[in-house]
Amino acid sequence: MKIFTEPKKLQKWCLAQRLAGKKIALVPTMGYLHEGHMSLIKAAKRKGADEIVVSVFVNPVQFGPNEDYEKYPRDAAADEAKCREAGATAIFFPTPENMYLDAHSVYVNEEKLSTGLCGARRPGHFRGVCTVVAKLFNLAHPNFAVFGQKDYQQAQIIKRMVRDLNFDLDIVVAPIVREKSGLAKSSRNTYLSEKEKEMALAISRSLKAPKSTAAITKELTEAGLKVDYVECVDATTLEPKKKIEKGTCVLIAAYCGKTRLIDNKVIK
Ligand code: AMP
Repeated sequence: MKIFTEPKKLQKWCLAQRLAGKKIALVPTMGYLHEGHMSLIKAAKRKGADEIVVSVFVNPVQFGPNEDYEKYPRDAAADEAKCREAGATAIFFPTPENMYLDAHSVYVNEEKLSTGLCGARRPGHFRGVCTVVAKLFNLAHPNFAVFGQKDYQQAQIIKRMVRDLNFDLDIVVAPIVREKSGLAKSSRNTYLSEKEKEMALAISRSLKAPKSTAAITKELTEAGLKVDYVECVDATTLEPKKKIEKGTCVLIAAYCGKTRLIDNKVIK
């Protein structure tokens, strides 16, 4: 497995692979990898990628001033082992300084799908996400990139960015990987105490057979969570919908103690 820290070196290597006819998959992550991330690497393999590039970068630009950028868990050695185990062929570990040069001043803004849900609660978050993902696309020259349904709004925004800015690649969205308990796997789960992990189960439980956003809000509140939002939206346009029915997606963001957790379900 190749290990890159320099953007230019990654770009040069990836371009050479593409020119040699190799199919490249990109899996962008913030590291502290778990089985959710590994499922994306495995999905890339199943889809026939010759080279699977995993980026591990806690992107400062997508964190708000009062968010957990400093505290976000990091473990490069464990991430490297997990990438190897899952079948990645390259890891990219850039530093903030070599991703954002002095006086970096160009950003990518999606202006429709990012106005609601997490976009409304985390100003600038998707601007940071789109900017770093656009940069990674330019560095890795992927034929396709794999994202998790766990971050449903993010996946829809990235698809829109690819469409609207004519990036020449496909976006694959892989299903949510959960703990046996139902809790969606997340690097942020490490912030949770045992008691909070129990409380957090209300989130996945409330999505099993969701009746109404009001009923979900009640269930979460009764479990001791602080609801950030519970919304039902059109699964493609992310426009608000009154009724939970086929073609909609129900999304939750809730605080369990100080930890903000997200989950969702697409109604099929
Ligand atoms: P993160 O490291 O949290 O930025 O996530 C990197 C990628 O992994 C994103 O595309 C996430 O949607 C995806 N991901 C995170 N957790 C899960 C999960 N439990 N199941 C599937 N994909 C996930």
